Amino acid sequence: MSMKDRIAIVTGSGSARGIGKAVATELAKRGAIVVIADIHLQGAETVAAEFNDSGYKAVARHLDVTSRESVAALVADIDREFGKIDILVNNAGITRPSRILEITDEEWDLIFAVNMKGVFYCTQAVLPGMIAQRYGRIVNLSSVSGKRGGGVFGGSHYSAAKAGVLGFAKAVAREVAEYGITLNSVTPGLIDTDITGGLMTPERRELLKQEIPAKRLGTAFDVAAAIAFLASEDAGYITGEEIDINGGSHM
Ligand code: NAD
Repeated sequence: MSMKDRIAIVTGSGSARGIGKAVATELAKRGAIVVIADIHLQGAETVAAEFNDSGYKAVARHLDVTSRESVAALVADIDREFGKIDILVNNAGITRPSRILEITDEEWDLIFAVNMKGVFYCTQAVLPGMIAQRYGRIVNLSSVSGKRGGGVFGGSHYSAAKAGVLGFAKAVAREVAEYGITLNSVTPGLIDTDITGGLMTPERRELLKQEIPAKRLGTAFDVAAAIAFLASEDAGYITGEEIDINGGSHM
């Protein structure tokens, strides 16, 4: 599954314990040049520096996926510097653990702006280049919350946005399959990162582990390994698909 000289953008990959960094690591290990793009530029710079120190190829860029201008500027910049974009991983995401009666318009719009519209902006921005080169791999971070509801961790706005990502990916996958471009999604269960860590007491964490058939939370690597496969050349005949990564908690 060599990705030598492939240019990959991973959105939201500037968080030290996040899934995005783990995805970037798996792509870089396989030889890709990885763009660590995050709304927190400092986090992205730290991750990219760590990669370069380990002999991987990475650059850090500021990106706000909710801004069409920011997305367009990043894609133009990477196109200028590297001449192409082969892989996009739509990983940036946020959640708010709100119950339905608590959700305000502002919170609804913010959740959709990052988790859904961000996927639309980034996908739309990279597609012209991918169509021209007749090659592309796009992988989206949806969630088990989009399939069965998110419980305390998600909120109905988060579940709706993550379900929206699945439909979006299937529709675009049909449109661009003839150009050698695939769009797939992963639907992780409970993964041990900052997004979930802040929402659990140690007792709650133990309880949740016992409810998972695998008896452990997922790791960022569990998710990254599946994404690396979907982003590889070998996965060229898989499109519009979703892979559950949840230790058996939802089948
Ligand atoms: P995280 O909070 O560790 O990382 C999210 C990253 O996105 C951060 O680096 C953050 O700075 C960045 N980001 C936020 N808003 C942004 C914006 N507007 N533009 C660019 N970057 C932005 O979260 P994580 O747990 O690593 O989650 C990564 C993805 O996986 C998310 O889409 C999340 O919804 C999804 N997911 C996570 C879990 C889980 O259990 N952790 C489960 C299912 C799905």
